[in-house]
Amino acid sequence: MTLWLRILIPAIALVWLYSGVHAADDFALRRARMVKEIAALTADSGTETGRHAIDARVMAAMEQVPRHKFVPPEQEHNAYENRPLPIGYGQTISQPYIVALMTDLMMVKPTDVVLEVGTGSGYQAAILAGLARAVYTIEIVEPLGMQAQERLQRLAYKQVETKVGDGYYGWEAHAPYDAIIVTAAASYVPSPLMRQLKPGGKMVIPVGAQFLTQYLLLIEKSDDGTVSTKQILPVRFVPLVGH
Ligand code: SAH
Repeated sequence: MTLWLRILIPAIALVWLYSGVHAADDFALRRARMVKEIAALTADSGTETGRHAIDARVMAAMEQVPRHKFVPPEQEHNAYENRPLPIGYGQTISQPYIVALMTDLMMVKPTDVVLEVGTGSGYQAAILAGLARAVYTIEIVEPLGMQAQERLQRLAYKQVETKVGDGYYGWEAHAPYDAIIVTAAASYVPSPLMRQLKPGGKMVIPVGAQFLTQYLLLIEKSDDGTVSTKQILPVRFVPLVGH
């Protein structure tokens, strides 16, 4: 090897290594900033939502899950902005603040089994993976479901199981669930999901027509089976299709 190659190769390797480490640090910094923004927004909207702060475990999950690995490469630089982003097939990854709020509302315990309808990118499922014992998630758009499955496996979110299908019907095989989260707007609460919710369980679901006001609802089924519904805040989600 010529002398200049002996110098050049380590130099290139060093620059490459440094830029890799630097980029990872940069994403972590941006993620920490995003989490601060979520905390501020939660405090501001506390009177409306009834939650003035988000649970520390949920915030820790938001600080750990690399949202930039759940968006298409051309959206990577926007990954830590507090807004929804396109993920293809006319669908979106939800706004981080809404992900944090919906997760918080379910008050997931480490022993819980959770169902998600609307896998999308798999980001919400990854957040839940750090909080629950098992997460089952259903996506109706096959390529999105397959992509999310591959991504969640690659990133080693082992507690998550994915399926392609119509989430309106829930996932009977693993029911009943301690918590159910629907990340697409339904015009009414699907009765199969209500049935698959455990007594004492919680469901968060946006309800309303596509171009009219949708409301995020928190539904609680008490131990004796009676149901109470709280309207949390107006939201905008892609529609729940199928059924
Ligand atoms: N939770 C997702 C965001 C999903 S956007 C994330 O973290 O990225 C809503 C998703 O719901 C879309 O991917 C859409 O295709 C899916 N969807 C719509 N109707 C559905 C249905 N009936 N069953 C399952 N998924 C559905």
